[in-house]
Amino acid sequence: MFKGYVLRCGTLSRWMFRGCRHYSQKCAIQGNEEVSKHVSFIRNFGLLAHIDAGKTTTTERMLYYAGSISSMGEVHHGNTVTDYMEEERLRGITISSVAVTFMWNKHRFNLIDTPGHIDFTMEVEQTLGVLDGVVILLDGSAGVEAQTLTVWRQADRYAIPSVIYVNKMDRRDADFSMCVDSLHIKLGTLPLPVQLPVYESGSGSNFKGVIDLITLDKLIWDISKQGLTYKRIRLDPGEELWKEASCARAKLVEQLADLDDNLAELVIQQESLEFVPSNALMESLRRVTLAKQGVPVLCGSSYKNVGVQSLMDAVIHFLPSPSDCSKHLLNCFGSNLVARAFKVIHDDQKGPVTFFRIFSGKFNKGQKIYNITQGKTEQTGKLMVAFADESEEVSEVDHGNIAAITGLKHTTVGDLVTSNASTASAAQKKLLKLRGVGEKTDTNDLFGISTRIPDPVFFCSIEPPSKSYQLALEHALQELQREDPSLHVSQNEETGQTVLGGMGELHLEIIKNRILSEYKIDVELGDLQIAYKETINNVVKDTHTVNHKIGSSTHSVTVTLSLLPNDSEERELLLLDESPDSAANIAAISFKHLHAVKLGVESAMAHGPKLCCPIVNVQVMLHWLEVGKGTSDTIISASVAQCIRKLLEVDGTHLLEPVMNLQVVTNEQNSSAVLADLSRRRAVIQEMSSRGHSKVFDILAPLSELLGYSTDLRTITSGTASFTLEFHCYQPMSLQDEAKAIKSVTGFV
Ligand code: GDP
Ligand code: MG
Repeated sequence: MFKGYVLRCGTLSRWMFRGCRHYSQKCAIQGNEEVSKHVSFIRNFGLLAHIDAGKTTTTERMLYYAGSISSMGEVHHGNTVTDYMEEERLRGITISSVAVTFMWNKHRFNLIDTPGHIDFTMEVEQTLGVLDGVVILLDGSAGVEAQTLTVWRQADRYAIPSVIYVNKMDRRDADFSMCVDSLHIKLGTLPLPVQLPVYESGSGSNFKGVIDLITLDKLIWDISKQGLTYKRIRLDPGEELWKEASCARAKLVEQLADLDDNLAELVIQQESLEFVPSNALMESLRRVTLAKQGVPVLCGSSYKNVGVQSLMDAVIHFLPSPSDCSKHLLNCFGSNLVARAFKVIHDDQKGPVTFFRIFSGKFNKGQKIYNITQGKTEQTGKLMVAFADESEEVSEVDHGNIAAITGLKHTTVGDLVTSNASTASAAQKKLLKLRGVGEKTDTNDLFGISTRIPDPVFFCSIEPPSKSYQLALEHALQELQREDPSLHVSQNEETGQTVLGGMGELHLEIIKNRILSEYKIDVELGDLQIAYKETINNVVKDTHTVNHKIGSSTHSVTVTLSLLPNDSEERELLLLDESPDSAANIAAISFKHLHAVKLGVESAMAHGPKLCCPIVNVQVMLHWLEVGKGTSDTIISASVAQCIRKLLEVDGTHLLEPVMNLQVVTNEQNSSAVLADLSRRRAVIQEMSSRGHSKVFDILAPLSELLGYSTDLRTITSGTASFTLEFHCYQPMSLQDEAKAIKSVTGFV
């Protein structure tokens, strides 16, 4: 029998903290100086999950066990460090809710918070661009949920390695193997369980710890001390759990050996799956996780203070450090500063605070920076690092880390910055040479820094309470847009009204609340309008000739264009006809004239003939262009736009509407009422499944039928059901629905 022993988790840093907060922070900074030389000791990671899976609760535990806070808050008491509750948004977001830095086991953790609600999906995207790894949380009783799938796909798009943490294992209906299966079935990934839950007797509330499959130890938490300590007890081969655990370990080794040659060799040498040493298994898991061939799966109950420390250890063991994921693109900057802004917030006292991930070099206090994306030099103000409940000014922040900077007026999310313009142009030259591309390549494309700004699905007008607030409102919207590029602001040319475009009802509601609470302007929002789009029915082709006499000069253009339906994702808007009839004419078009043609195409595609909505899923082919001597570029653009408008009007367009992925979770008693209501909303049921005593409906439904759905669902189910809503695609409408939509927008058919 092995004797149990007690691990004291984060004892040193907690002890430092107890004496005095500033001492604790100083230690963290000294720690920073110590580890900054070893980038391999940094972990920049985020927690991603479906709403309510326990992100905030888990973050709070991590900060407590690391010694960054002296007591734990709870979500239902509203006293957690990183909560994103609406109330907190209304009070103004604290800096620490964006990124918190703390030390764990000699490593510097930069935990970057990502908002949970799908309306803030843009913020999640921005954050992913600067993370090296993610922990994806599941609710142990639900497995993979609608938004788990969304965040998983997002992390996948950025090729970010992940670890899965199955939380809420204390719930009676928690089911670890169901969660593992759902990872495989719904995410199509290879789950690699590295732990099994341990129940004292029975299940659910008797959840006491986990079996570490790598070492075959049982880890039992002392929940009377808020889970600060846990016992690590070697499993005894006579124990019932031993058999289950050693089978699970052998399966893990087998799965890894299939993916990892190093481990396969070891297994062949030893002629057994059983005797692979723990350290070889850990190393193999790390390689497989970093290569995104599989995901380690852990479990715990953050609320009951079980399992969080082993999750933190897993962050160290399995997730990459900045040096594991060096961005090749950025290597052309050598050791010079290069950093990317991923978040801007407006703090009452500090003004705009811009958060950067530093990829190479370092930020020095008060230095100038050159914004590559915008081609502007800016003066920085204070340089800060965010700790649990306050930010601290520092003199420098080194590469691999997160810095918060005040005083920047132009830099916005997604921008890439360096120390000065000459560093930027030297790096650009190196990159052009490396890539073998022409000088004309767009800087942002070259550095891969164009961000995906999602199209809005809702619009509404916004009015200040009186004309005297107009300027203040414009200023507020400008600041809010810098924080959140998914907020679209435009002017309606006919009515002169300011129009907001957003990702959902909640998104626009929160913008309204923030304008009131932070800028003290009591704005009025108009009715929500759906963002429809238009597309064409058939291929159409025509020639358009313009002859204009302006003063003494004549401007003449003859252009032949065709419009082609095309709904594939990767498509160029403008195609050039290379057939023998056109090739010579097209080849002779100057770069300047081609640019004017492009502008004309873009302008004509912005408003369709039916409802003035953008034209999508269409390509324009240029067959012929003749330009008379002295013709201005504006006339070329206008002629192209006129030609396209004529083609669109002659053949007509049809409307496309946004269709949403809706997932409703309800109890059985209310399920038929929920379905009956959905049938009135043009909903198409994709899947019906059971989860414990609940029913889960996955549905596709047009956004126009879902206005106010949260209130209706609450009424039907007396508040017992929940739902998530996410944009799915644009779909053509039936003639009847199209007529209804036109009537609701214009007031007549
Ligand atoms: P978030 O939306 O992902 O940030 O989730 P929160 O941390 O706000 O948690 C949502 C709710 O689940 C809160 O009421 C928490 O107290 C509760 N919760 C979090 N972790 C656990 C857990 O391990 N077990 C149980 N039973 N409840 C939990
Ligand atoms: Mg939360």
